[in-house]
Amino acid sequence: MLKAGVLGAGHLGKIHLKLLKESNQYELVGFFDENKENARLIAEEFGYKKFDSLDELIAAVDMVDVVTPTLSHFEVAKKVISAGKHLFIEKPITNTFKEAQELIKMAAEKGVKGQVGHVERFNPAFQAVSDRIENPMFIEAHRLAEFNPRGTDVPVVLDLMIHDIDAILSVVKSEVKKINASGVSVISDTPDIANARIEFENGCVANLTASRISMKNMRKSRFFQRDAYISVDFLDKVCEVVKMKDAPEHPDDFAMILQNAEGVKKQIYFDNPSVAPNNAILQELESFADAINNNTTPIVTMEQAAKALKIANQVIAKF
Ligand code: NAD
Repeated sequence: MLKAGVLGAGHLGKIHLKLLKESNQYELVGFFDENKENARLIAEEFGYKKFDSLDELIAAVDMVDVVTPTLSHFEVAKKVISAGKHLFIEKPITNTFKEAQELIKMAAEKGVKGQVGHVERFNPAFQAVSDRIENPMFIEAHRLAEFNPRGTDVPVVLDLMIHDIDAILSVVKSEVKKINASGVSVISDTPDIANARIEFENGCVANLTASRISMKNMRKSRFFQRDAYISVDFLDKVCEVVKMKDAPEHPDDFAMILQNAEGVKKQIYFDNPSVAPNNAILQELESFADAINNNTTPIVTMEQAAKALKIANQVIAKF
């Protein structure tokens, strides 16, 4: 079993600790949190071993799971990689693209694996339809959250929109051509609401909206392609696929038929894949264990996360 250690036992770190403890792919060795009082409370309440420094944690494990705030990612990840340990790191991978590139280079030199916590790739609703999303030409993504001071150290683009940027880059097989964006700071020093229009070389346009000061939570994306409309509700974990096919000569009474001006008839039908419930965080962590054990490429690579970060930073630069 892979020995795992968690760095940062805050909101998400506590969830990672619990799941690594439950996983039968990892042996949870312990954690380090620089906030001594928080570390003491977590160790007392849950019985996890508390380390006194990052170096001691790194020395005791095969893999470090970095769940500290984004601005610390680069410095701590460098330490993990230089010690030759595998790195799972929360999104966004780092604060700047240059830092991410440096981590990628170091990991290649050290021969260690890295995976980034773009957990929506493991969302069962997205997993259920991702292989049906083929050449989408228009994408509308909304990620709206009620206000929570956690995460406000970075613009909403790095906190929330980057999830959709990563998901979109995983299905649009084309390079980004042009970005327009605008953002508004309402309560934080950095934008709390943002909208971006991302145009790809192949003509696809993605319109993304993210907010962390909404009255209600919503995480929904809609993908429009030639033969289908696909919607993914990342929050309620449901999806919908509406497809078109040539209408039969004698459609049955309940068939939904559209006829264009030239008289061509199309039949609309629903093709809803079933969503297999999962714990997306456990699955992402265990998929990383598989990649380490079988020497395969992780599902969310550091290169992909760096690309999502680059686009996110290009969006921010437009504000
Ligand atoms: P948090 O503020 O609740 O917790 C961070 C913890 O890290 C704190 O306990 C703090 O004391 C500790 N810490 C800070 N710097 C440290 C260091 N250098 N060494 C050791 N401990 C340190 O933050 P959070 O909400 O748990 O977010 C942590 C990370 O997870 C962020 O990168 C965030 O973007 C990411 N995140 C991802 C998702 C997701 O959906 N994938 C959701 C929430 C947060």
